[in-house]
Amino acid sequence: MKVYSIESLHDAFQSGKVEPKDYYQQIYKEAQFQQKRLNAFAYTTFGKAEKDLKNADFQNILSGIPYVLKDNLCTQNIYTTASSRMLEDYIPTYNAHVVDLLERQGCCLIGKSSMDELGMGFTNMTALTGPVYNPWDVSRIAGGSSGGSAALVASGLIPFALGSDTGDSIRRPAGYCGVVGMKPTWGRVSRYGLIPYASSLDTIGALTRNVRDMAIVMKNISGHDHRDMTSSFQSVPRYFHHLSLDISHLKIAFFKNIYDSLTDLQMKKIFDDMVVLLKQQGAKVDEIDFPERYLKSLVPVYNIIANGESTSNHACLDGIKYGMREDEKSIEDIVIQSRSRGFTKSTQQRFILGMLVLKEENQEKMFRKSQKVRRLIVEELNHIFQHYDLIISLNSDSIAPHIQDAMKKSSSLVDAQLLLANLAGLPSLTLPCGFVDDMPVAINLTGRLFEEQTVLNCAYALENVLPFKNQYVRGDHFEI
Ligand code: GLN
Repeated sequence: MKVYSIESLHDAFQSGKVEPKDYYQQIYKEAQFQQKRLNAFAYTTFGKAEKDLKNADFQNILSGIPYVLKDNLCTQNIYTTASSRMLEDYIPTYNAHVVDLLERQGCCLIGKSSMDELGMGFTNMTALTGPVYNPWDVSRIAGGSSGGSAALVASGLIPFALGSDTGDSIRRPAGYCGVVGMKPTWGRVSRYGLIPYASSLDTIGALTRNVRDMAIVMKNISGHDHRDMTSSFQSVPRYFHHLSLDISHLKIAFFKNIYDSLTDLQMKKIFDDMVVLLKQQGAKVDEIDFPERYLKSLVPVYNIIANGESTSNHACLDGIKYGMREDEKSIEDIVIQSRSRGFTKSTQQRFILGMLVLKEENQEKMFRKSQKVRRLIVEELNHIFQHYDLIISLNSDSIAPHIQDAMKKSSSLVDAQLLLANLAGLPSLTLPCGFVDDMPVAINLTGRLFEEQTVLNCAYALENVLPFKNQYVRGDHFEI
């Protein structure tokens, strides 16, 4: 099956080179093939895609384009489980705002994608429907928690998917699977209809095959929504029309102490090459230090805030107010048994940590203290962004781990750096840029609040000079 970007598929529909009905028949077949290989769908929604296709006029760039949604985005009359047994039977009566927006554009939903339970994880090993496999090597993980979305875009089946990112969940799997992934500024995209993880960190974003497509999708899902009071009134630039290859005015920083922590020389070399490419295009790239005390506190601060917020957000999933219910004699037993059987062990561990940090006697010394440290980290970043337009880093210090090693991988400084964009609400993009051992490697670009355009432009300029673009993987062979 030929692989398209949003742009090339739109052109093929408009010129009549591709007949939409025939194309969708191929997609359904290919989806079944990919499902056996990758296990990336939570559900397929071909019936819905057929209906959506009838409404498509192929005039807008997104009209008639197939896509998938991470299964924590509510879809009217379609299961939305967030990969939790607790929500196994949940069929929302309404669409998430982003779903309404994409439907209005004429996009065709072919499925809901697998994810780690409630978005908690970076491996996609805790999914209700089982692990998702990496299209480049099915003995490796796709990464999480938006692993299904990343794997399906990487497989060449669809040109884009939506995901959510609370700590790294779009960017981690995007990097492992070799696709572009972006989280926007917190507040840029309405979270109405997103089953939350941690509200002060959650963002909805996209995974695409290239930066031009990312500019198209991000524009179409961004903007104020009166149903999400935290969504911003700031106007959204027409990212696609303002894409520019000129980055000679950009000042870019990378953190030397994180760079020095890299042990893999091949990964280091890829990063060095990216810096050379940026400099060749006239950008100024400096190495600076990020204070060690903040680097060390990134993971604990994130864990305390994310788990504290998620414990509070999901207290209502008790088998009484919401969620699956176990039959027991007392209300207390219903809650205990429903939550014990409804959530995986790893999610229960997070809730235990969350309850601990929210306990009255611990709040000041754990939860509030973490919020104070978060503020200090944000101030440090604000200071850096007075002098620099972007921060660049590797997306991870390794390629996607093998399935059996996935849960053992501890968070390195490079991995933890992705948390910065969530703690500070910044736009952040992951761009595939090379290979180690035939597996994709990516860099990450993070910009100032609401400056998605700068992030996209820098990624676009880099992508333009990289050999990586348009590469994809299907079955056991690579094609370009
Ligand atoms: N990996 C992080 C966690 O498990 C972030 C997940 C996410 O962004 N949803 O908390």
